Amino acid sequence: MAEAVTNWAGNITYGVTELHRPATEAELAALVASSERVRVLGSGHSFNTIAEPGAGGVLLSTAALPAVTDVDTAARTVRVAGGVRYGELARRVHAHGLALPNMASLPHISVAGSVATGTHGSGVGNGPLADAVREVEIVTADGSTVVVGRDDPRFGGAVTSLGALGVVTALTLDLEPAYEVEQHVFTELPLTGLDFAAVAGAAYSVSLFTDWREPGFRQVWVKRRTDGPPVEFPWAAPAREAMHPVPGMPAVNCTEQFGVPGPWHERLPHFRAEFTPSSGSELQSEYLLPREHALDVLHAIDGVRGTVSGLLQTCEVRTVAADGQWLSPAYGRDSVAVHFTWVDDTAAVLPVVRVLEEALEPFGPRPHWGKVYALPAATVRDRYPRLDDFRRLARELDPKGTFTNAFVAEVLEG
Ligand SMILES: Cc1cc2nc3c(=O)[nH]c(=O)nc-3n(C[C@H](O)[C@H](O)[C@H](O)COP(=O)(O)OP(=O)(O)OC[C@H]3O[C@@H](n4cnc5c(N)ncnc54)[C@H](O)[C@@H]3O)c2cc1C
Repeated sequence: MAEAVTNWAGNITYGVTELHRPATEAELAALVASSERVRVLGSGHSFNTIAEPGAGGVLLSTAALPAVTDVDTAARTVRVAGGVRYGELARRVHAHGLALPNMASLPHISVAGSVATGTHGSGVGNGPLADAVREVEIVTADGSTVVVGRDDPRFGGAVTSLGALGVVTALTLDLEPAYEVEQHVFTELPLTGLDFAAVAGAAYSVSLFTDWREPGFRQVWVKRRTDGPPVEFPWAAPAREAMHPVPGMPAVNCTEQFGVPGPWHERLPHFRAEFTPSSGSELQSEYLLPREHALDVLHAIDGVRGTVSGLLQTCEVRTVAADGQWLSPAYGRDSVAVHFTWVDDTAAVLPVVRVLEEALEPFGPRPHWGKVYALPAATVRDRYPRLDDFRRLARELDPKGTFTNAFVAEVLEG
């Protein structure tokens, strides 16, 4: 039966009438091998056309494949099916006394879809989630499986691949012993006199939130590992009540605050796994920029806050350590990541995104691949020094361009 297939936010309706959900790897391989154009939809949390297969293309989900999560406690690794969501993965890993190094702000996103776009959490020493991947299993256009591990010269393109190489059916991730985290929220941190490096480095993971109605931050979320140093945060006052990053939203959906220690996976995301947002009335944009310019970046945004604040629900500022994935927005540079949750109105948001991008341009922003941006493809391309290596890899693994779509073609070729 025909169905409208949309992303989580509902701002993208894919040009297909069916989402294929193969239940076995054999079914998946046969479907791929018999199709000219294929794209995979993860949990659909991207805000742009990155997953769109285009006219006549096949859109498939791996969510009906067995939800494998094989934990190897001796090796401290897990082999996980690509369609499994981080919340589920975290629960299973934790049951073995093990942990992931970091998580994104919500646990409902699929593993393969997240690492494909360079999804990240926060922390001056924490790379994107793809950093934990040691091996990736990809069903390529002829239905055969290619396994690419860390010691393979192709690895740099294989994980943050924009879905352009094939269907990622499984990934093996590094784990570490389970740890506990305390979450402290502070309020009203001024921009004037901000020591960004000290604030961002105050704990394992730090996020600053603002609506840019004032030149400063309404909230700072500080996530401290209990095996790390105590939090010293002299710059702002502790929150008196539980907070939600979007002013006016109920804090009941947010992870526990007030420094109550708890398992890593119940503190690192801002939102609780048991709260399942089916859709969100929002659009998102995000840019990763060289961290040494963080303060100038924040002042540049402050310079356009009159334009930005009207459509903004919240802005989150995080840090991401440099990684080695060729298409990662954090490739080769320790980054400050500036995220914007906009109101759900594409026509109104796009012109504001352009104003913002102009303000950020002197710092060479790389947009998040899963979010709304307006930067010309040629500008974005120039910011990826290993793009040619990725092009070569795409030609090798996907010679007929089965997994290419308009979004990827624009990024790669213009
Ligand atoms: C509420 C919300 C909060 C968010 N928080 C964060 C955050 O904290 N940090 C951050 O960096 N981003 C964040 N994002 C963005 C989000 O993490 C990315 O858009 C991510 O790609 C979503 O994963 P997904 O599984 O939904 O992927 P999709 O949007 O479904 O797909 C993304 C890309 O991955 C490809 N893909 C998916 N599965 C596979 C597969 N099995 N094999 C091959 N290719 C595949 C798709 O083809 C597409 O190109 C957030 C988004 C939302 C809606």
